[in-house]
Amino acid sequence: MTIGWHFDNTYSKLPDIFSSKISPIKVKKPDLIILNNNLTKKLELDFSKINNEDLSQLFSGNLLPKDSKTIAQAYAGHQFGHFTMLGDGRATLMGEHVTKDNERFDIQFKGSGITPFSRNGDGRAALGPMLREYIISEAMHALNIPTTRSLAVVKTGEDVVRENILQGAILTRVASSHLRVGTFQYIAARQNENELKTLVNYTVDRHYPNIKQSKNQALDLLKVLMEKQINLVINWMRVGFIHGVMNTDNMTISGETIDYGPCAFMDTYDPQTVFSSIDQLGRYAYFNQPSITKWNLARFAECLIPLIDKDKNKAIQIVTEEINNFEKIYEIKWLNMMRDKLGLFGEDPKDQVLILDLLTWMHQNKTDYTNTFCYLMNEKIQNNKIFYNENFIIWKKRWEERLKLNNNTPEKYLKLMKSVNPLVIPRNHKVEEALKFANNNDLNLVKKLIKILEKPYENQNGINEYQSTAPASDQKYQTFCGT
Ligand code: AMP
Ligand code: MG
Repeated sequence: MTIGWHFDNTYSKLPDIFSSKISPIKVKKPDLIILNNNLTKKLELDFSKINNEDLSQLFSGNLLPKDSKTIAQAYAGHQFGHFTMLGDGRATLMGEHVTKDNERFDIQFKGSGITPFSRNGDGRAALGPMLREYIISEAMHALNIPTTRSLAVVKTGEDVVRENILQGAILTRVASSHLRVGTFQYIAARQNENELKTLVNYTVDRHYPNIKQSKNQALDLLKVLMEKQINLVINWMRVGFIHGVMNTDNMTISGETIDYGPCAFMDTYDPQTVFSSIDQLGRYAYFNQPSITKWNLARFAECLIPLIDKDKNKAIQIVTEEINNFEKIYEIKWLNMMRDKLGLFGEDPKDQVLILDLLTWMHQNKTDYTNTFCYLMNEKIQNNKIFYNENFIIWKKRWEERLKLNNNTPEKYLKLMKSVNPLVIPRNHKVEEALKFANNNDLNLVKKLIKILEKPYENQNGINEYQSTAPASDQKYQTFCGT
């Protein structure tokens, strides 16, 4: 076969405790239903000469490429605040594929059967959630937000039993690695400094070679992760993305968004928005995401304490100071992100008030987050009567005054706005509609949705229904954990 795999499996060479050598459990009747041609090109792979049957065998894990080394990775995590030993309970790392430019990608099956870490689970995944991860992760990529990606979805031909009986599926996920805060927690809990050093060295070699020579590598690793994760959560806030399960096992060390379970995009602007049915207390609500990021980083910092300083108290003091910089860094970056959304160049002392006043108005008037910025960019949107509101008109005058301080042309600030404000997002009602058809073996709407979401910043004809808010009956939208 001339696919072009180039495997170099480094994780499986780490000491045994880091992973478990396993094989994906074979499935009855695999059927490839979607393959990501754009990602295929990026990975320098060519599946064009392979028939659908063989591709189905490949992307179900029934037939593995020659140099793959299949493992399940060990990790732990704080789930809704409680520490648990976890690990890949339904995922198999097929291998690390390296491109000509030396870019390394984990190729992983999700839903590939039980592993030593499955606990009470069946190791399987259902079609709807795997397609959902495909749609939303690819949308995030197109929105220029770091994320794991989706290469393929295969139906297994087997049922999975949840509340109902559902069709089984396997997603092939591509990530720059699957190292998580939870990986560090797992190793740190073993209290073996050599193992911890091994993990830090591995991480630095793989993701952050620029800190290889640093005097305090562990501290620098904390600093870079903090920067990466702040940038990530600001991107989420920018587009109204709500992850839904920001457990420490779902926070990558690469800074990519991972684990698309009950995530969803906010429609009506409300900082308290929660979609996940299991998040009753709103721990992972939209406005809580930055403080949870900080909380997760503090858990990461705790793991590194033995390597930060021999004197434990001193180490704690050092990491505490570092973590406490979070708010300061976040606020500056958040303000700049919001300035971009409003086309504001430079800084004005009144910017923060101007921005907060808009958000307050949006909250009070229940306007659509995405479409409000579209309106400000003079994009045609439906239901725009709300913007005749007197308070909005007053606010808009203040904004226009501030734009004058830009000292540039409308073309210039509109260009900035258009680079950060999407015209289309994966709206919950459109995602659900597409998945409903997919469950009845019709993938046309899934494919159409994916295509539209590939160009979120471009004007596309005939996509009105993808830009409009949910029908009133949909207002209590709920998502269910990645089942
Ligand atoms: P998640 O909520 O997807 O981040 O998963 C949390 C943990 O539960 C991870 O260790 C998963 O591997 C595991 N898990 C989720 N679903 C299943 C399943 N159906 N079978 C086995 N393990 C699972
Ligand atoms: Mg997870």
